[in-house]
Amino acid sequence: MKRFEYIRANAPEQAATSASPKDAFFIGGGTNLLDLMKFEIETPSTLVDVNRLDLEKVEDTDEGGLRIGTLVSNSDLAAHPTVIENYPVLSRAILAGATGQLRNKATTGGNFLQRTRCYYFYHTDSPCNKREPGTGCPAINGENRSLAILGTSESCIAQHPSDMAVAMRLLDATIETVKADGTTRQIPVKEFYCLPKDTPHIENVLESGELITHVVLPAPLTGMHTYDKVRVRASYAFALVSCAAVIDTDDSGKLSTVRLAFGGIGTQPWRNEEVEALLTDTQGDDDTIKQAADLLLKDAKGSGQNDFKIPLTRRLLKQVIQRALAGEGA
Ligand code: SF4
Repeated sequence: MKRFEYIRANAPEQAATSASPKDAFFIGGGTNLLDLMKFEIETPSTLVDVNRLDLEKVEDTDEGGLRIGTLVSNSDLAAHPTVIENYPVLSRAILAGATGQLRNKATTGGNFLQRTRCYYFYHTDSPCNKREPGTGCPAINGENRSLAILGTSESCIAQHPSDMAVAMRLLDATIETVKADGTTRQIPVKEFYCLPKDTPHIENVLESGELITHVVLPAPLTGMHTYDKVRVRASYAFALVSCAAVIDTDDSGKLSTVRLAFGGIGTQPWRNEEVEALLTDTQGDDDTIKQAADLLLKDAKGSGQNDFKIPLTRRLLKQVIQRALAGEGA
């Protein structure tokens, strides 16, 4: 690991100002960052420790939602009574990720910022456009079984690894930040991530020194909440395909609310509101589900080993809709 300066911040604004060197990093739980530093994939000159900041609360908002401090651990957020009661899809998504030990350390803000698990990204003797822009992408014709089929580019096909962020995208969460100049801003999760295009090393819209302070959830949605995750083993595995869903039906049995977001298939948490609109006010019959899957996957592009994700996503979508119509779920 390369040497770095360590700064312990006592206020969010001070943390943001302290992170003014372009290669500075904030550290909360460090569950991904410390690995990246040990492998020398990231070599920050400065680490700003934000663990003493007063950002560990989960509070009700005047709008009927929740405001979550960035340092709330994944375990505490998943176990929070209001999250379990009103946002079970979020609780389930978090519990589907990592292990108990990791969830105890990992923070809400850090979860949004975890990096892809593409093998080549972690092997520093390999080219990788995300790690070293302009060096190439060996995954496109190489080991790509776990990688993305949507939102990819000729530069990068890395999948976004987070389960929590998929649920946050589904719930229309908003990220609050403070910048190095002390100003704050609100960023909808929908606008937070960048597609790889020809700059896969730029993964989100955060500016240098900009610190995530909170995440705000709008008022809860009624209906069945589920998080279905297909993976190679029952725990401690990233999604091959996952689906966060909130689905409700009316008295006639039609789908009155349809929200769907997918993990494992996109270069960012993947949601397509046109798919939701196509399914809404229908009976969710096989033909309609097929049309929805066609629309969801119309730009999907497999790279060989990960071709299976296209039919697997179709089957998962169908399973989620049919379970909701059968009245299963929370
Ligand atoms: Fe690197 Fe992205 Fe290609 Fe993986 S998919 S090798 S992260 S450029």
